[in-house]
Amino acid sequence: MTPKEIRKRRTKIVATLGPASSTPEVIGELIETGVNVFRLNFSHGTHEQHRQNANTVRAESEKRNRHVGILGDLQGPKIRIGELQTEQKQLHEDQAIVLTIDKSTADSEKDRVYVVYTPLPESVQAGDTLLLDDGLIRMQVVSVEGKDVNCRVTQAGVLKSRKGINRLGGGLSADAITEKDLEDLQVIIDLNLEYVAVSFPCCGDDLLPVKNALKKANCNAKIIAKIERAEAVETEENVKELIDAADAVMVARGDLGVEIGDAQLISIQKRIIRLSRQANKPVITATQMMESMITNPVPTRAEVFDVANAVLDGTDAVMLSGETAAGKFPAKVVKAMAETALGAEKHPMMRQSSYRVDRTFDLVDESIAMSAMYAANHVSGVTAIICLTESGITPLLSSRLSSVLPIFAISPHIATCRRMALYRGVIPIYYDVMDGEEDLWAKAIELVAERGALEIGDRVAITCGDLHGKGGSTNTLKILEYKG
Ligand code: PGA
Ligand code: MN
Repeated sequence: MTPKEIRKRRTKIVATLGPASSTPEVIGELIETGVNVFRLNFSHGTHEQHRQNANTVRAESEKRNRHVGILGDLQGPKIRIGELQTEQKQLHEDQAIVLTIDKSTADSEKDRVYVVYTPLPESVQAGDTLLLDDGLIRMQVVSVEGKDVNCRVTQAGVLKSRKGINRLGGGLSADAITEKDLEDLQVIIDLNLEYVAVSFPCCGDDLLPVKNALKKANCNAKIIAKIERAEAVETEENVKELIDAADAVMVARGDLGVEIGDAQLISIQKRIIRLSRQANKPVITATQMMESMITNPVPTRAEVFDVANAVLDGTDAVMLSGETAAGKFPAKVVKAMAETALGAEKHPMMRQSSYRVDRTFDLVDESIAMSAMYAANHVSGVTAIICLTESGITPLLSSRLSSVLPIFAISPHIATCRRMALYRGVIPIYYDVMDGEEDLWAKAIELVAERGALEIGDRVAITCGDLHGKGGSTNTLKILEYKG
């Protein structure tokens, strides 16, 4: 794919780093193929590995003059089984198995599997369905006896150490942030990452410990709420409250799909994406998007359509997990995803946007962002939107409306450029002197034209504020012609 083609894609790609993608060569190739944000998954790997990966991403993206964001994903209170006595254990259908919180009596060879979650016996009852390893294995609770939960396997499979447990319908929950999360957060702060993802929050307050720690450290990382608990999507109010409390959102389909069932997930995914966009938050759709490419060089048609569907739903980004972290074809899967996104973006539906026509805006920058999009979509000859931005807020607001036109976001801050890498349709451009520039408007057009994005006679819609050094001050919109 040529750089020009990469630039034409509006949907962003988040790729998880892992053993299959930790060398400068692979990371460089992933950037060239189209990754916009890398995810460091703190459920796996050592701090040293994450530090090294973050440094490699910074070095390789700078080398290529590309603005790439990094997201540190905290493990959160994931409920897991403990270590098995053997490397793996085959479970058969109808087999009786005991999940016990008593380590001294646990012995996986005698069908007594240790679970690292003390409230388990009181959180489940006979008849409940438990899902292990993202739903690959299912068991039904037969009875609860003291520290033991007696189960019967209803879907056979191979169990491995430390795999997750979910209860169908939700209800297994622990403290929102663990000790390990706080230690990992320190690394995220040290590395100055753009985003930190909080796992398994039930409500807005569950984000507070991370929010407070970031504030204390004077760190500007933005918080992504991973929506992956049945409780978080129980009512529309729950979802809204969580979205409002966060800076960005992830439809974490791995755990959410297991807790509520994939059939329920179909409309929930659409609802989370719609609500996030309405709340002016970027949203990532994650997990098992091109899963078969962990071992195969091409995706299945179902996977292509799943990615396309998320694009049509309006997601800012689609995410790869095992596919790039541990798969055989990290660059191929990114390429497949990029092509799929481009294909989906050709759908005429992607040009329409009407849901804000009857809204009033309290914020001046929001009304300017909306006006710019309206002008760009309705004035003839406009081929691009350009935002001069400190914090990235105007491009974010603009990108909440559908359009086929690129939003060039020019900022004097590298951190803003990296953060904007996640926003759908936004192309970050770094430019350092904004104050004292003779003709800022002409300079902005020149910066975009330098990238080959404008032809003589094209019109552009440009937004700008008058108080530099302060975000959220955009108050001006101009429509100008590129004269060459
Ligand atoms: P995970 O989160 O990969 O950290 O579990 C994403 C998901 O649950 O979909
Ligand atoms: Mn998860």
